[in-house]
Parts: sequence; C-alpha cells; structure tokens
Amino acid sequence: MQYLKKIKPWQWGVITFLSIALLYFAIPPDNPLFNTEYSTVIRDEQGDLLHAYINKEEQWHFPPSEGIIPEKLKKAVISYEDEAFYSHPGIDPSAIARALYNNLKEGEITSGASTLTMQLARMRNPKSRSYFHKLLEVIDALKIELHYSKEEILNLYLNHAPYGGNVIGYQTAAYKFFGKKPQQLTWGEAATLAVLPNAPGLIYPGEPSKLLEVKRNSLLKKLLDRGTIEELTYQLASIEPVPDQFITFAKDAPHLSRFLKMKYPDQKELNTTISKKIQRISNQIAEKHHTVLAPYSIHNLSILIADTKTGAIKAYVGSPDFFDAQHNGQVDGVQAARSSGSILKPFLYALSMDEGLILPQSLIRDLPTYFDGFAPSNANKTFQGVATAKEALVSSLNIPAVRLLNTYGIFQFYTFLKMAGVSTLFRSADDYGLPLILGGAEVNMWDMVTLYRALANEGVVQNNSLLKEESSQQGKQVMSAGASFLTLEMMKELVRPGSEYYWRRFSNQQQFAWKTGTSFGHKDAWAIGVNPQYTIAVWVGNFNGETNKNLSGASSAGPILFDLLQALPVKPGKKWFIKNEMDFTPKKICSLSGFAATKACTEVDTVDAPYFMKPLRTCDYHETRYFSTDGKYQTCSHCWDKLGAVEKSVTLYAPDIAYYLRENGQYIEAIPRHFPDCPRYKSEQSIEIIYPNLDAKLFLPRDYDGEIQEVICKVGNTQAVEKVYWYLNESFLGSTEENHKMAIHFKPGKNYLKVVAENGSEDSRTVFAQVKE
Ligand SMILES: [Zn+2]
Ligand SMILES: [Zn+2]
Repeated sequence: MQYLKKIKPWQWGVITFLSIALLYFAIPPDNPLFNTEYSTVIRDEQGDLLHAYINKEEQWHFPPSEGIIPEKLKKAVISYEDEAFYSHPGIDPSAIARALYNNLKEGEITSGASTLTMQLARMRNPKSRSYFHKLLEVIDALKIELHYSKEEILNLYLNHAPYGGNVIGYQTAAYKFFGKKPQQLTWGEAATLAVLPNAPGLIYPGEPSKLLEVKRNSLLKKLLDRGTIEELTYQLASIEPVPDQFITFAKDAPHLSRFLKMKYPDQKELNTTISKKIQRISNQIAEKHHTVLAPYSIHNLSILIADTKTGAIKAYVGSPDFFDAQHNGQVDGVQAARSSGSILKPFLYALSMDEGLILPQSLIRDLPTYFDGFAPSNANKTFQGVATAKEALVSSLNIPAVRLLNTYGIFQFYTFLKMAGVSTLFRSADDYGLPLILGGAEVNMWDMVTLYRALANEGVVQNNSLLKEESSQQGKQVMSAGASFLTLEMMKELVRPGSEYYWRRFSNQQQFAWKTGTSFGHKDAWAIGVNPQYTIAVWVGNFNGETNKNLSGASSAGPILFDLLQALPVKPGKKWFIKNEMDFTPKKICSLSGFAATKACTEVDTVDAPYFMKPLRTCDYHETRYFSTDGKYQTCSHCWDKLGAVEKSVTLYAPDIAYYLRENGQYIEAIPRHFPDCPRYKSEQSIEIIYPNLDAKLFLPRDYDGEIQEVICKVGNTQAVEKVYWYLNESFLGSTEENHKMAIHFKPGKNYLKVVAENGSEDSRTVFAQVKE
C-alpha cells in the first residue's frame, strides 16, 4: 500500500477522470438510439409500397427495414460526407484541425468537419452550433463508434437523415421524390439523396433547384474522378432532372391497409401477400364495372382474390372507390356480412355425396314443397318434377336444395359451416332453418374464399393469409377429396355470362368452377369460383342494403368474375385439378335415377363415386311386378293362377313426380292396373292429392273485385286410372280424366277435400284456407 501514498492529489484527479470516462464509454448509448414513432408502411409481396400512413408528428418516416442500403447510395454518401468513414474512430482529427483553423480565420463557425457519426450524434440531439455542443457531439460520436459497427452507423444515419419538408430517412425519400424502392435508384438519384440531408431546404415543389443540381453534379464529378462511376454513367446522371415535387403515395389497397393497421396497431411495417399487379388489375376492373353499374343505381362492389393452394391473398378491393363518401365507399365489402344467396349450395351437394344421399347423377324432387311454414320456390317459378343433382346445382334450383338440406340435416350442415370457419353465424341452426341454404344467413367474402378453396384443396379447409410472415396452419378435412372433386366438376358446367357464353369453343379458355348467388329481394349479387391457381370472389350491391331488381349473381357479378379471370396472369402448370384415382371407387348406379342399382333397374351405369362416401341410397324408381299373360292387368298370388304371372321390371314414378313430368310434356307410361276382381284391387294405392300440400295453410287470393278466387288442385297417379271423382266437404264437384286437376272454391277455415279413383282407391285431406289480405 506504500505506493498509493506516492500518488499526488493531481494524479488522483487524473485517475478519477479517466475512470469516469472509461465507465462512461463502457455503458452503451440508449438502445435504440432514436425513439421514433415511425409511419406505418404497407408493402406488397415484392416489397413495393401499397400504402403509407403519416406518423403522429405528421412526418413521413418509414421504419428502418432490415434491408441492405443500396450500394450506389452508400458510395455517394461516403464520398460526399465522410471519405474517411471506414477508417476513423468517429472523429476525424485532421478535418477538425482544418475546420478550426478556417473558423478562427473567418471569426464564425462555417465549415463543419463533422463525420457521419458526429452528424448521427447531432440528429439524436439537435442543438445550436456552438463549440460546447460540438464537443458533446464528439463525445457521443466516440461512444457510438464503440458500440455500433460502421454498417449500423451508416444505416442509422441514412434512416434518420432529414430530406426536406416532413420527409425523414432515405427509404421515405426514395418513394417521395422518385416513386421507387431504394434498390431501384439511379446514380443521379443516389447522388441527390446523398446531398440533401445537409441541404434539405433545397427541395421544394414546383421548381427544380439549380443549387441542388450543382451540388449533385459536383458529387457525381467526384465519383467519376475517384473511378466509382464511368464517364457514360456520369454524363447520363448529370442530365437527369432534380426532383421538384413530393410524390403522393399510392393508395392501391386502402381497405386492406386500414384493416391491417387496425388489426396490428404496433406493427409499423406490414409485408402483405398482395400482388400489386393483380391488385391494380382488380382496381381497374372494379372501376370499369362501377361505371357500367352506376346508372342502374348499383354503387358498390368488392373483389377478393387468393392463391388457391396457399390462401395468400393477391388482391383486396373493399369498394370501387374508397373516397366516394356519398355511396359509403369506406365500407369494406370484403369483411361485411351479407346474405349468401345460393353460394353455400355446392357444399351441401358435396356433403350429401359423402353421406350417401346422392351422386351427381341422382334425381332430386323438384315439386311444390312445404316444410313447416316454409314453401321454397325456384327463381323461374316452375317445377320440373325431378332434376339430377348436377342439374339442380348448375341451374341453382332452390327446391331440390331445400329438400336435400332437409334430408341431410340443418344442424349437421350448420355444424359444418361453423367448423369450416364461417364466422358470421350468430343465430342457432333452428333459428336459420331450411332457408339457410337459400341465403337465410349472412356470410362474408373472406370466409367464402376460405370455403371455396377447400373444394379445390381436396376437402381440406385452411385459413387465408394476408401477411407474409403468417405461418400456414394445419388444415382440417371437412369434405372427402372425391366429393370435392365431383362438386368442382359439376360447377365447371355453369354457363358463363355474356360473351363468355360460348367459352367451350375457344381452346385457350381456362377451366373454372364457379357459382352465383342472388339474395332475397335482389340486395346482393355474388359470383365465386376456383381453378388451381386462383380463387376469385365478387360481390355487387349497395352498402345501404337497397334492393335493386337489376341485381343478379349471373348478370351483375358474373361478368366481373370472368373479366378478372381473363386479365389475371396465368402461371404455367396444371390447368385443372387432377383426378386422383385413389379418391374414387366404381359404383353401379341406375341410369334413370342415379341411385344404387337394384335387380329391378333396367339400365345400369358404372361411375366413379367418392371412396369415403357412405353406401349410396338404392333406386326406388324401379320395381319388379307381375302381369297377366295378356299384359292387361297386374296380378298377385291371389289372382295369378287364372291370369298368369309374367315378371317385369317397371318404372314407377311417385304420383307427384309423374304429374309434373307430364305437365312438362314428358310421356310417362302408366302401368296397367291390378286385376279388378282380385281382393287386392282396391288396396292398391294409385292416386294422391299433390296440391294443396299436406298440413300447409292455403292462402286464398282475391281478384280485382275482391272476390275470393279459385285454387287449382292436383291429383297424381302412377297406375292407369281413367277417372277421378272430386268431393269438397262431402259434396261432389265433378270428375277428371288423364291429367287430374280442378279449380276449387275453398271457404276460409277448415275444408275437407277427397278424391276417389274408379278402382276405388282414394285420398283425402283437411285443407286450412285463409284469405290473403
Ligand atoms: Zn333404377
Ligand atoms: Zn291380385
């Protein structure tokens, strides 16, 4: 301890000072160096700017991205500001000495001698230019150099440098002055951005600054002299005009940008999956159709396009004009819940296949139908009798869809929708009831794109994604791959609108599976479709919910869908979904009914059925019956000893089906009646009242004079019946032959209708009638 005594007080002072200095420099500077509230920047899949939001200080200051500073800008800045940047420790003593000498000579502070690091220190703490503040800058610069690499320092400098007006940072400046990504800057532009931070006042709108041009060109000359650029580059760069305006940032996807900004308020950089090219195509097509639709008082439409496989959203158009306040342009139609119309139908058909209820060839009844207070009707108000599942889906027939839902189960279908991510079902399954399949529920475009993609991805549902970093989640199998494929094959047959009508003639026409939807009262028009590359959804209507008779899925939304399909870039590769043989199993079906063939079926086809479907329902259109040798009568064990028993397969349409098939001009052969002398003769049920429906309340219309009008009642028959006798409340009304229908005056309240066939078979029902007010 002896040597401590030898230290003199002044030496103690030096030691203390050095220790404090060491400690000071050892403590890292604030992290981060800047506490900046950045602007929010929304980028497309290529990193191109889609949208930007000004920060709280009303500045355009893009967040420093991880991106590398472009080489041209780096070289230009170092040449201009600080050629010794890579070799000095934060300060450049020779430059300081030179500056000090000059300043003393001039009597005021003119030249800075500031290194880039010292300028960075000043940006952190802007003060007046005094010697004392200069000293503080020097200390801070030394400290920064101790804790940051040269690359980090350059990055911080360029990201916080002022470029004039409210433009901060080189990335912002590249977009604001040149409208491009920093990586795309030319030498002339890079030189301009190198010069500006020390003369940010040199840029103002309206007039290119001569001084800025002089400064830029002298930097370019320096770069030429140093051999950084070649003569030709120098010549071309120095004749580039200097910027004389602040470019307004593009607003290519305003609804999407607002949606993301609200969802991720703290994320200043949002890198989306949007393709600027596809977004712009969609914007243009939206605008074009908006112009066409507006004269019909249709003012809004929305578009959502996703990559079918990955679910990455490629275009997002919330409304044709975000800034059209008069027509609620700010409403985001992609997220808005609207009536689904018929666009949920394809899923019911796919699920019904898996359940063994149908195949595309199977017949579904298309007749007046009444379910507990609900009587669906087809758009064209007609009844075909029966339609194949494919026909019913392609023509979007409502009655077969409602009947199918009734058989499949409303609760099961509702559960499927929930499981598949439909987020807008706020009521219970019972509350929606069967109208669910006709647009009774509201859905949004986002969920519908998810759902339609599942058809294309072998029945696996997986979320869409909007941000590049969103990891794709595990999908859920909600339908079989086979049923999904068969449903797409059906949807491919939908007739395309307008000029697309004859699309099959053009070999280059892309295959596309799609579906339209029109909501009740013509408020919403939908068209959604898929191919292996794109899933496209279009909605047309008015955000204020106005009905408009001009609105329909096929005529309003369909043309937009196909305009998009034509305009979108096509990737080489598979044009249509590949049928995987593993997903199918051969099945023998009745050629007439499309159900599993029985021995009675006269013609049988073998078709591919989904491998995982439950056993298909058997055909009940064909039966084996016995006939007398002369073919005149049906026989049975009670009477065939006398007459003979010739076994024959017969086609038996239910009476109601037969009635409507005949109405539509189809010849339906009535099979011979049973032998009249046989005890079984009377019990053969051969006629049936098919209208009014059982249990339905009948509404009696009034004519112009206020008189209650007649109602056309109908009776169907399968076996040959020559005459039907009609009775109302036990009084005889008359008889009919062949196609049995009769106009009847019902009284309000309870009525009793009875029909008797000549063979004695009969049908009757109570009809509750009410006057329609
Ligand atoms: Zn059959
Ligand atoms: Zn018999």
